[in-house]
Amino acid sequence: MVLIEGGVPQRPVVFVSRTVLINKVRQKLYKLKDNPGWVTVFGMAGSGKSVLAAEAVRDEALIKECFPGGVHWLSVGQVDMPGLLGKMQSLCFRLEQKNNSSARRPRSIEEAKEQLRFLMLNKYPRTLLILDDIWDGAMLKMFDVQCRVLLTTRNRSLVDSVSGHREEVEVESSLDQNKALEVLSLYVNKTVRELPEQAGSIVKECKCSPLVVSLIGALLRDFPDRWDYYLRQLRQKQFRRIRKSTSYDYDALDEAMDASITVLQNDSQTLYKDLTVLKKDVKVPPKVLSILWDLEPEEVEDMLQEFVNKSLLFRDCSQKPYLYYLHDLQLDFLVEQNRDRFRELHSKVVRQYNQFYKMGPPLSGNEESLYWFRYLTYHMAQAELSKELCELMFSLNWVSTKAQIMGPAPLINDYLEYSAILDKENSTVREQFQEFLSVNGYHLEQKPFPDVVQLGLAQPNSSEVYRQAHLRAQERASGG
Ligand code: ADP
Repeated sequence: MVLIEGGVPQRPVVFVSRTVLINKVRQKLYKLKDNPGWVTVFGMAGSGKSVLAAEAVRDEALIKECFPGGVHWLSVGQVDMPGLLGKMQSLCFRLEQKNNSSARRPRSIEEAKEQLRFLMLNKYPRTLLILDDIWDGAMLKMFDVQCRVLLTTRNRSLVDSVSGHREEVEVESSLDQNKALEVLSLYVNKTVRELPEQAGSIVKECKCSPLVVSLIGALLRDFPDRWDYYLRQLRQKQFRRIRKSTSYDYDALDEAMDASITVLQNDSQTLYKDLTVLKKDVKVPPKVLSILWDLEPEEVEDMLQEFVNKSLLFRDCSQKPYLYYLHDLQLDFLVEQNRDRFRELHSKVVRQYNQFYKMGPPLSGNEESLYWFRYLTYHMAQAELSKELCELMFSLNWVSTKAQIMGPAPLINDYLEYSAILDKENSTVREQFQEFLSVNGYHLEQKPFPDVVQLGLAQPNSSEVYRQAHLRAQERASGG
C-alpha cells in the first residue's frame, strides 16, 4: 500500500533480480535512517536505473525501519523549470491530500520548494523521496530541503550542487550475461538451458542492455522460430550511419526497435508512428490517444496492450487511468525515423483535437484535459500552425479555462515561450494578454475562481482582453 500510494512503479512484466545491485542500493538507503541525505543511482540510459530504484524500496523491513513516513516517487525527466513547477505542485498536492490538509498551490518554483520543505519537515519526517531520471543540478537544488532522497540520473556529478550526506551506486549499462539470458528465457517461457545456441549471440549483440533484450525477447515470444533471423537483423546495423551519440551505442536498440515495429500490422505501425509527437518523459492517458487515433476506447486498449506486450511502450499503473509512455531512447528512435514527417504528425494532433473539441476546450481537470492544456500549444508550435496558436492564445475563453485548471503560471510561461511566433502575428495583443495575467495573477489563484469577464473589463478599453470580456458581458446580458 505504501508503495502504491507513493506512486512507485510496478515491476516490468518480465523481471530479473539484480541482487548485488539491489542490495547495494538498500545498504546505502539504510544510511539515511537517522539523517537526511542523498543516494544517487547513476548509469546510462536504458541500463535499468528506474527499475532498480523501484525494486530497492520493495522491502518491508527497510521501509519500516528507515522510512516509516512512506515513499514518494516523482518522475522528473527532461523538463524545463515550468514543467518542474507543475511536477512539484502535484507532489505537494499529493502530500497535502494524504495529510488531509490543503495549502495554496505554490505559484513559483521557490514557493514550491518552501512548501515541500515545510511538508517534509513537519508532516513527513523520515519519508523517502525518489526523483527518477533527473538531469539538471539546478532542478535538484529545488529538492534540497533537508529530506531523504533517492535519485536516478545519467549524470553522476549532479549531487555536487546540493548539500548534505551523499552516497552513490553505479549501474552498469548491461545486465550480466546470465541475467540477460534469463530475460530471454522468461519471454519465451523456457529455462536458460533450453534456449537455442543463438541466444548467447543475441544477448551479446544487444550488449546485454535490459531495454534491448526486452524488445527482442518480446519478439521471440511471438515468433519462436526466428532466433536466426533476429540475430542477423541485430548484426545488420543498418542504422549505424543515421545517427551517432557520443555517450551511448544505440545501434542495437535501433535494430531491435525496427524489428519490433516491422512485425506490427500496417495500421498499428501508423498508430505507433503517431507517438513520435510525444514530449520526452510525458505520460499519456488513453483518452488522448483515442482522440489522436480516432478510435473507440476499447480499440485503443487493445492497441496499447499490443505495444506494451512488445515492450514498445510502457504502462504506469500507479494511478487510474493508467498512463502510457515511451522510454526516451525509443522516442529518439521514432523522432529520427520520422524527422521528415514531424510537422505533419503534430498537425494531425491539432486536427484531431479540433475535431473532437469543436465546442470549446475540455472543462474538467482530469488527466486528459490536463494533457491538452499542457501540450496543445506545443503541438501547434511544432506543427508551425502559427495562426491556430495565436487564435488559441488570444482567446479569453482558453485563458480563463486554463488558468482555472492550472493556475496562471503555466499560461504566463506559454506567452514567454511562444512570444516569437505570437509576435509575428500581433505583438501588441500578446503583450495585452501577458499584462492581463501578470496584473491578475493573484486573483487567478483564488478559490472560488473569480469572474474572468469582470477582471477583463478592468483592462484598458484598447486591450483585446477588454474587447473579448466586453463581448462576453454583452452576450450574458442579452442571454438574460
Ligand atoms: P533507465 O531508468 O536506466 O533508463 P529503466 O529502468 O527504465 O532504464 O529500464 C529500461 C527497460 O529495461 C525497462 O522498461 C525494462 O523493459 C528493462 N529492464 C530494466 N531492468 C530490468 C530488469 N531487472 N529485469 C527485466 N527487465 C529490465
